[in-house]
Amino acid sequence: MQSLRFKAIHNLTANPFSVDVKGSTKITQIFGENVFTLKTAREFLSDEAYKSLLASIKSGSKIDRKMGDQISAGLKGWAEKKGVTHFTHWFQPLTGATAEKHDSFFTLKGDGGALEEFDGAALIQQEPDASSFPSGGLRATFEARGYTAWDPSSPAFIMEIGQGKTLCIPTIFVSYTGESLDTKTPLLKALVALDKAAVDVCQYFDKNVTEVTATLGWEQEYFVVDASLANARPDLVMTGRTVFGHAPAKGQQLEDHYFASIPERVYAFMRDYEEEAYKLGIPLRTRHNEVAPSQFECAPIFESVNLAVDHNTLLMDVMTRVAKRHNLVVLLHEKPFAGINGSGKHNNWSLATNTGVNLLGPGKTPKTNLMFLAFFVNTIKAVHDYADLLRASIASAGNDHRLGANEAPPAIISIFIGKYLTDVLKQIETRVGQKFDEQDEAMLKLDIHKSIPELMLDNTDRNRTSPFAFTGNKFEFRAVGSSANCAGAMTVLNTIMAETLTRFKIDVDAVIEKGEKKEIAIMQIIQKYIVESKDVLFEGDGYSDKWEQEAKKRGLPNVKTTPLALDAFVTDKAKKLFEHNKIYSHSELEARHEILLENYVKKVQIEARVMGDLATNHILPSAIKYQNILIQNIKGLKEIGLAATASENQSQIVEKISEHINAMSTKVEEMIEARKVANEITGTREKAIAYCDTVKSCFDDIRYNVDKLELLVDDKLWELPKYRELLFLR
Ligand code: ADP
Ligand code: MG
Repeated sequence: MQSLRFKAIHNLTANPFSVDVKGSTKITQIFGENVFTLKTAREFLSDEAYKSLLASIKSGSKIDRKMGDQISAGLKGWAEKKGVTHFTHWFQPLTGATAEKHDSFFTLKGDGGALEEFDGAALIQQEPDASSFPSGGLRATFEARGYTAWDPSSPAFIMEIGQGKTLCIPTIFVSYTGESLDTKTPLLKALVALDKAAVDVCQYFDKNVTEVTATLGWEQEYFVVDASLANARPDLVMTGRTVFGHAPAKGQQLEDHYFASIPERVYAFMRDYEEEAYKLGIPLRTRHNEVAPSQFECAPIFESVNLAVDHNTLLMDVMTRVAKRHNLVVLLHEKPFAGINGSGKHNNWSLATNTGVNLLGPGKTPKTNLMFLAFFVNTIKAVHDYADLLRASIASAGNDHRLGANEAPPAIISIFIGKYLTDVLKQIETRVGQKFDEQDEAMLKLDIHKSIPELMLDNTDRNRTSPFAFTGNKFEFRAVGSSANCAGAMTVLNTIMAETLTRFKIDVDAVIEKGEKKEIAIMQIIQKYIVESKDVLFEGDGYSDKWEQEAKKRGLPNVKTTPLALDAFVTDKAKKLFEHNKIYSHSELEARHEILLENYVKKVQIEARVMGDLATNHILPSAIKYQNILIQNIKGLKEIGLAATASENQSQIVEKISEHINAMSTKVEEMIEARKVANEITGTREKAIAYCDTVKSCFDDIRYNVDKLELLVDDKLWELPKYRELLFLR
């Protein structure tokens, strides 16, 4: 029987996939057509209901039962007009995926008659069976109740799957006793804390600022692979990455893929998922090839953080589904292929006021300049003081393959700010010990706005190796993994920023109380913060060994593995921080820590099993088959009297194959034993460490031997599609 690998290759070449690129629809014609936008709400709701919805979006005010009924009726009217039959609360539990449980509008009345119904109660709150979602021990299984509750700040949307249409209501997910069981609840709390702290600081500069919104623009990297080829790789199917595979003759060294023209089949797929995304109101803006072969990226126009996070999780789901239509598979894993770049998800982050000012955009007047400096330096201080937490916020089994692998930011959190701003901060800093006074007005008049935009916005003064970089009018957190829910990183970033700004206000007020002028007081604290946090600033090559040594001297944390990085979530400092800002209680933090560790263990465990299985029932049989052919050949040569010289080569190959088979099998045995030992460990943290140090540590050796075998064994006998096929055939 022909192997799946050759069937897939045959089909790909014999019947090239018909490329059906969508015609050009004007984006504005379809944008948001499946979203219950405010404009749609205006059309389908009474004045009263509309106002109530608006107030709830703007200020989080509660929607009462009567208004809830009216809004749900409007929603149902709109949805039914579009052919929707079911609705679901759409939420983001700690599994890392999105969750939904569909209910039909259809119901039976007491007299047996049928009715389509969707009332306020169904809109506002639901009780999915929550017993199978991770809770980190917060919710004993016998008390399985968890609630989803409507988040009006993210509009309802219609998800189209084939012919089916479902009304999706974005919700939070909390336990019966109110603890958060999802990623959205803490994120919303962090955004509230940030808003308050930032508004308080803005008040020094502009009394009209009453609201500060954190903004996020993510850049999603991903790989695209032909589905038939991917399906012939059990490792891709089970883990989203290839655990084996020798580097192809051609990798990314020619750099001919980056920004090159997009392959037609992938282009058709992009056009298709983009159209779905536009209908869902996801404002995609850019698409291009990335550095590695078959790697691509898309990015939207930035939005408020909560909406941007929802849109990213929704898009990951949409991309995965749309790919199927094109017989393609999207790989969102951080490291699907060894030897070429992995994928990340840069998080561009800034703060916007209700008065239309970007707080991380250098101002045009001395006053707004000082405001920029205050927020800029507070960000640096926040990242410096809580670098361990930021590191923890991006920790995952997948991201461990990428961080510090000379293609992605190192596990050391540092900030790049560019030459000009480095000089500005140095100027301020050199006045250590001296007090700022009236003569320092000059300092406040620094012409920041003139120099930064040209330097930074045109990309010339950028450092691609920094995990946290200032890029002219925003910071870019580059260490986030491609498959991650951005909420994790965004919750931490906005919380530490809220905490630092709150501290800043207290510090400045204390100086003002001593009789100092407001501007001078602000400048003094900015100076103090620069001195305290300058160690986190680094302009050089973040991928170099020199930086690792230098960072060590500076005392910056450099935690390379997830189980240890996650410790940062449960330090006293973290507990205080999250409690103070009302994000997590101690028990919620501990539960989350537990869930993240469990997730790590499960991921490594699955990879280890897949590796063991493949080594034993894919690699070994092929290698032995080929070995036997060679042995027969040597025997034949001997029979006709050509033994001595002619068989030397063959004997060597037989020997090499034996060596690699033995080394591979021994390591697999060792890994299985290590797993058994690790599984007996009761503490989750210790178990995760054991999985990292004793199970995962076998992966490289096993892989080395398998990849060597791939080079030796007859290509026709090799069952797993090779890198050259996965990466270059479509
Ligand atoms: P690049 O960083 O590749 O040069 P851009 O600067 O155009 O690209 O933007 C990258 C991402 O940053 C986009 O998603 C963009 O919307 C987002 N972005 C731009 N300004 C802001 C901002 N003020 N806040 C958050 N994200 C922003
Ligand atoms: Mg960028």
